[in-house]
Amino acid sequence: MRRAANPSGFAIDARAAAPPEPARDCPLCPRLVTYRSENAAAFPAYFNGPAPSFGPLTARLLIVGLAPGLHGANRTGRPFTGDYAGDLLYSTLLKFGFATGEYAASSDDGLSLVDAMITNAVRCAPPGNKPTPAEITTCRSFLRERILSLPRLEAIVCLGRIAHESALAALGVKSKAAPFAHGAEHRVAPGLSLFDSYHCSRYNTNTGRLTEAMFDEVFSAVKERLSTGGRISESGDERA
Ligand code: SF4
Repeated sequence: MRRAANPSGFAIDARAAAPPEPARDCPLCPRLVTYRSENAAAFPAYFNGPAPSFGPLTARLLIVGLAPGLHGANRTGRPFTGDYAGDLLYSTLLKFGFATGEYAASSDDGLSLVDAMITNAVRCAPPGNKPTPAEITTCRSFLRERILSLPRLEAIVCLGRIAHESALAALGVKSKAAPFAHGAEHRVAPGLSLFDSYHCSRYNTNTGRLTEAMFDEVFSAVKERLSTGGRISESGDERA
């Protein structure tokens, strides 16, 4: 059985369909379940669960990160909220009109996303910020359904190589057809572009691998693509 294509024209085999959001006590990755329990004991005020996607279902843009940081999204329960990566991501989203309000590193800061949703390739915090290949594969069922659940989706921004590879796999696109490169735009389905960026982690910005200007360029390209209705011709040129 195949899921009907969304308005962007892409469709994914949904025989093993999962809901777009995991249960609060998702049991599928034993190592991460153990880590959640340990963190619940060590940090009882933290969220300590799969961080739910954040943003409206009408979003045309989906931003895919790696996984919740232990003291970031795992603490606050909102993707990229409460750690350094969130400072850069949310300030950039505010700058480009993909967010409104004020970001105050808390899930109750009142900030809203506009035409954008943020999710993670792996929803539970992994030890050392490093999910295993098996955990990435297991959690991909939720990413796939999250992508399918957005009827107006036209652009995906992948923050880092793991998010890129998992989003490609969720879309059924081979890695060779769309290799990861910061600043690249890949047409992964009719009406759907995937943009790559280095992850906005403290390490990447401290080392200069990712600058604020480089990050801005990615979202500027996304903004431009959305303004053209996500349309790209077979030759790669925009259609009016
Ligand atoms: S990482 Fe994803 S699949 Fe694994 S336990 Fe968490 S929510 Fe479930």
